[in-house]
Amino acid sequence: MRYLPIHIDTHNARILIVGGGEAAEAKLRTLLKTEAELLLISPNVGPEVARWIEDGKISHLARDFHEQDLEGVTLVYAATEDGSLNAEIAAKAASMNLPVNAADQKDACSFITPALVDRAPMVISIGSEGTSPGLSRAIKSDLETRLPSTLGRLALKTQELRAKVKELMPELSDRQRFWARVFDGKDLTAHLKLDEAGIEDRVDEALTRPDADKGGSVVLVGAGPGNPDLLTFAARQALHSADVVVYDRLVSQDVLDLARREAEYIYVGKEPGGKSTPQDEINQVLIDKARKGFFVVRLKSGDPLIFGRADEELDALEAAAIPTSIIPGITSAASAAAEIGASLTTRGKNKAISLLTGHDAKGFAEQDWKSLAAAHARAAVYMGVGASRFIQGRLLIHGAEHSRPVTVVENASRPNQKIVATTLGALPDDLEAAGIKGPAILLIGYAPRDAARQIFSKVKHA
Ligand code: SAH
Repeated sequence: MRYLPIHIDTHNARILIVGGGEAAEAKLRTLLKTEAELLLISPNVGPEVARWIEDGKISHLARDFHEQDLEGVTLVYAATEDGSLNAEIAAKAASMNLPVNAADQKDACSFITPALVDRAPMVISIGSEGTSPGLSRAIKSDLETRLPSTLGRLALKTQELRAKVKELMPELSDRQRFWARVFDGKDLTAHLKLDEAGIEDRVDEALTRPDADKGGSVVLVGAGPGNPDLLTFAARQALHSADVVVYDRLVSQDVLDLARREAEYIYVGKEPGGKSTPQDEINQVLIDKARKGFFVVRLKSGDPLIFGRADEELDALEAAAIPTSIIPGITSAASAAAEIGASLTTRGKNKAISLLTGHDAKGFAEQDWKSLAAAHARAAVYMGVGASRFIQGRLLIHGAEHSRPVTVVENASRPNQKIVATTLGALPDDLEAAGIKGPAILLIGYAPRDAARQIFSKVKHA
């Protein structure tokens, strides 16, 4: 993100607009909604702008711009119809460290103005950093139809109610949880439809059962392979209301970004062969946070119940009598298969698929190699990149053919996904040549369907 969206206080601010034509008019349409004092400098102005001046909404100086005009202003819009003049004004403003926007000259701007959905005081700004104004407008018009005109009044009423809630709940974290419950992630449409009386009723009702939230709990949530589009709806809701998010190394930033911003984030990653958080310590964090009354989201990559050491955590939580639940996720083998368009089971070909780990506590994991080497056997190997030569050796010794297809999907569903289609005979060398370091799934006995990338990789381009 190059441009940081911020909302500037225009109360008592003075905004200078240089120009009186169409470019200035477009900026003014938004600026007129603010509380700022607007000063416009331009020898001549268009009819619409003239009307605003006449109505006393804008102060106007009918002359050319002078450098002194920049004194005492908060923001500057260089919006004449002359590009080089705009750039010149912008340079002067910049030399005085004034935030400046120059019409149609992105490089001369120190800020750019977003598309707005205005339900003041609820305001949504949409920006594409100048890459795609058309797309921003499409998002804006979609939101315009979805967000009711009463939204601003709902926000104002909520502000009033916050004072009442604050009196009853002096602790900030209690209040945050209270409001998360009032506006829980389940039904945004219903929240948006609330009128002033509706929100008051809902707050009163929530205040009469404050104990409902006292006891903490833990939910083990499958974060999927990394692409946030592959999260379940339940996972999203849990992330929205989390007080604490305890997450693993392979949970993607895009998924973490969906969690409540005020939540506490605790990283408990285990680096392969490197530093890691001991399992006992993770268990203890979950228990301690839940005992404090927090809603703890334990985020695990893929599905929490597949190579996720879930039962160690579940046992500890059960022993501590902490209410616990599980939200499944899309496991990386499923995502990898989708990316290459390969059916994991095929009628008449394989009646089973094994999910294997390449490593266990002792090192490379031993498996039932004899049955895995059989011609019809199919397997998805997790944590298998480092063990690929070992796995290859074991399967070949037990009679598997060199030509058996193996497809490796690294970073499945993520923007940096890599697919290597190879054979058992060439597996370790091809992985090395392709620079595959993981996280990756080895799909043994599977080749990508033709043109799989075009047909089956839609989600990752979101
Ligand atoms: N619970 C997870 C597995 C955790 S074990 C699940 O259900 O997917 C860690 C292993 O998962 C990695 O070594 C790798 O084999 C696999 N993995 C996790 N994310 C992946 C991704 N985006 N692409 C490919 N493999 C992934």
